[in-house]
Amino acid sequence: MQNPQQIQGVSLESIAHEFGTPVYVYDGEKIVEQIETLQKAFSSVPFKIKYATKALSNLSVLKLIKNAGAGIDAVSIEEVKLGMMAGFEAPEIMYTPSGVPFEEIREAVDLGVIVNLDSIPLIREFGKTYGGSVPACIRINPHILAGGNHKISVGHVESKFGISIDLLPEIVEAVNEYGLKIWGLHVHTGSDIYDAEVFLKGGNVLFEAAMQFPELKFLDFGGGFKVAYKEGDPSTDVMEVGRIVTKAFEAFCRKYGRSLELWIEPGKFLVSAAGLLLVKTAVVKSSTTITFAGVDSGLNHLIRPMMYEAYHDIYNLSNPEGKLEKYNIVGYICETDTLAAHRQLPEIRPNDLLVIKNAGAYGYSMASNYNSRLRPAEVLVWQGKAHLIRKREEFEDLTRNQVLIEI
Ligand SMILES: *Cc1c(COP(=O)(O)O)cnc(C)c1O
Repeated sequence: MQNPQQIQGVSLESIAHEFGTPVYVYDGEKIVEQIETLQKAFSSVPFKIKYATKALSNLSVLKLIKNAGAGIDAVSIEEVKLGMMAGFEAPEIMYTPSGVPFEEIREAVDLGVIVNLDSIPLIREFGKTYGGSVPACIRINPHILAGGNHKISVGHVESKFGISIDLLPEIVEAVNEYGLKIWGLHVHTGSDIYDAEVFLKGGNVLFEAAMQFPELKFLDFGGGFKVAYKEGDPSTDVMEVGRIVTKAFEAFCRKYGRSLELWIEPGKFLVSAAGLLLVKTAVVKSSTTITFAGVDSGLNHLIRPMMYEAYHDIYNLSNPEGKLEKYNIVGYICETDTLAAHRQLPEIRPNDLLVIKNAGAYGYSMASNYNSRLRPAEVLVWQGKAHLIRKREEFEDLTRNQVLIEI
């Protein structure tokens, strides 16, 4: 894997200089390339990408994704609104909530987005309220255990997501009772799924269930493509997934008697590798067995290493030719905050800039103010120029909504 000094001709050092550190940097061209790769992989069928907004929800990134021809999947009403603000038309937005109050469903319907129903009580409430006047999608739990980590496996039998495929007769009964118009069926089995066959397995569950719903317009295969996090790391062969899934899908459509749209909801695949977190070394210190490089960031900005034991490749931008040594790269949060352990890197000196790779997905979108720290700026490199797309937070942002009472 490469350790770039620049993105589209813009040096990372100049970005750090202009916008300060820590800073998230996204390569817009890379995001567009990923969209084009998927469009190619699924080109033989009517195909739609519904980008999983939760991976990275900056308005400018959403707008770029919209212009590249994708729609979005939103998991909160706020993401629906962000999508609309970025320019998506309501029908391009799928709303996939997980056990939310019905008022939120009502709000989504009022906005005109399609709602993905994830429980039988919700199907009934939706049916009672709208009957067949508002089309909807149903999220099926396919009982498939897949994904890179137990926290991101969401399609297995004990997962809270969707409606168990075993309950298909009850789903059909509720749909028929209220005359619901079901336009789509959906599965999403998890994240970091390497094996192309898993997507086919999920598809087979959809194909079988679909025969019970005569008014379908699309089948949604969810997201979860695995990306490479380090040298030699396997990643999902999306051309292979495209080949086997479209072939099975075409056979299904013949059986169904009509051509449907095939939807997928990639998050990580579109934005993970396109994003970097650029940090500065504050301190280098050694204990008996290990040398720590402490940086001006931490789990408040990138929680994936501590939350999912995720591996993020890191390189020393300032001293690429330095003598190799072993480091634990740690954040400044008062809590075990290891961004990377036992990494061989060129000598790290105070003030060296380090680049944390694959930070585009679930980086900024999971960032917090823990330890009363400020969230970093976001920069999008687009058409050879670095654009600030979110300002670094200031101290006032921490206190803005607080009420200091008389005590
Ligand atoms: C998170 C999520 C995705 C995206 O998962 P990735 O692993 O980032 O591709 C897709 N669909 C739904 C419903 C999700 O919750």
